[in-house]
Amino acid sequence: MRRGSYTYGEERAIEELAPLGAEYVALILDRDIECVRRKASRMGVSLAKSFEINVRNMSERQLKAITSLNPTMLCPSCGKRFVNTLSGVCDLCHLDALTTNHNAEYRRLSVEAERTYNTSKKRLSRLREELGVPAPRGKGGDA
Ligand SMILES: [Zn+2]
Repeated sequence: MRRGSYTYGEERAIEELAPLGAEYVALILDRDIECVRRKASRMGVSLAKSFEINVRNMSERQLKAITSLNPTMLCPSCGKRFVNTLSGVCDLCHLDALTTNHNAEYRRLSVEAERTYNTSKKRLSRLREELGVPAPRGKGGDA
């Protein structure tokens, strides 16, 4: 945790990030929350969390302030939201990655299923030929 006097960049970040509330500002600055509260109060900045603030939709300036002080807090994939999953990205990027993986697995399984189906169809057709049994007609036609 950082201690001592605040840098110019940290002071600007307190102003820029104040609407996120004291907890986030302290986390981003990597400083004690009470210490950050005192500093903000001396600067005349309110750290009361704004009702309109949406940490999923931060401004470019706020993202820049976070990146300059504590880049590992932001998702390395999109750089727009806080990391909040064990996989080290934001939840939306995490879901995106899962979707991509699921789709790839689905494609793999469907290709495999079709191959298995075609193999069994050929095997059955060969057996019918050997035994001289005609394929059943009428129902669906693809049996
Ligand atoms: Zn992300």
